[in-house]
Amino acid sequence: MSDITEKLECLIIGSGPAGYTAAIYAARADMKPVLYTGMEPGGQLTTTTEVDNFPGYPEGIDGPTMMIQLQQQAERFGTQVRIGMATAVEFSKETGGYHKVTIDDSKIIEAKTVIISTGASAKYLGLPSEEKLKGGGVSACAVCDGFFYRGQEVAIVGAGDTAAEEATYLAKICSKVTMLVRRDEMRASKAMQHRVNNTPNIEMLYNTEVDEVLGENVVEGIRVVNNQTGEKKEIAVTGLFVAIGHKPNTDIFKGQLDMYETGYLITKPGSTHTNIPGVFAAGDVQDSQYRQAVTAAGTGCMAALDAERYLSSLN
Ligand code: NDP
Repeated sequence: MSDITEKLECLIIGSGPAGYTAAIYAARADMKPVLYTGMEPGGQLTTTTEVDNFPGYPEGIDGPTMMIQLQQQAERFGTQVRIGMATAVEFSKETGGYHKVTIDDSKIIEAKTVIISTGASAKYLGLPSEEKLKGGGVSACAVCDGFFYRGQEVAIVGAGDTAAEEATYLAKICSKVTMLVRRDEMRASKAMQHRVNNTPNIEMLYNTEVDEVLGENVVEGIRVVNNQTGEKKEIAVTGLFVAIGHKPNTDIFKGQLDMYETGYLITKPGSTHTNIPGVFAAGDVQDSQYRQAVTAAGTGCMAALDAERYLSSLN
């Protein structure tokens, strides 16, 4: 570990809509923010094709382009955007204290304010065959990849609102969608269940789990198992969508920041303040409910304003 340190007013961790929006506001407020991108520069939207629901883009915009534009907007006001991962943190409990953040296990940054916008990542089943075929027919985003399966038969795993929403989305594009639910009922809201059950080309398989994803380079089918009877069968599909929830990227904050059992950071209601003075959370890392680019951007703005007020209160 190197001992190179740098002292900052404002450090932003994460480069999705929350991080870049925080950067735009912090830079304009002359906080000279430095933003570290994390492992997936641009965040989850870089895995999306068309973004049609972000206000201000009447024709829609593709996710990667939108993220490049957000980065350019943040840089235009003086944000330093750097490639790098926060690998450890040591937050000061003192108001006005410097928070230490280690980048790539080597460089230490000391910052008076830290805005955490590390987002959330899709969960996968953990099967070796699933891992092997990621990008070859296994996807965690129907809206991003459904288009490639036009007119084909696909399967989706999960039984929450996301799975239900994605299944009905896929049903419009694909000839058939088989939905695999591990229990004998769905977790999704009644309204979403109703919608799934009323879509003729969605077939529900309850008490059913994926045993193996079949195919060498691309998905050719799945073998499923009924967890009540042990009976196995193969289903011919060209795509497997995994919609079993997201995991917030908060492992490095464990023991230092208050978080729910699910790992989502807890912020004080109506604000982005965490339990540590000078540390703020914005975007999906603190939001299991809405998880939209526009809500992430909104809380990114809030985090920069909260950080600015915190810094002013110190003087
Ligand atoms: P959830 O945690 O609500 O649901 C995850 C689902 O995946 C559950 O049905 C769970 O099964 C299943 N699951 C988990 N692990 C496995 C596994 N290994 N194998 C098979 N199935 C598995 O996540 P969502 O992403 O669906 O939703 C997150 C939040 O976002 C929720 O609060 C939801 O209401 C909200 N949301 C709201 C929407 C809307 O209102 N339009 C749209 C999308 C999300 P089990 O039930 O057995 O635990």
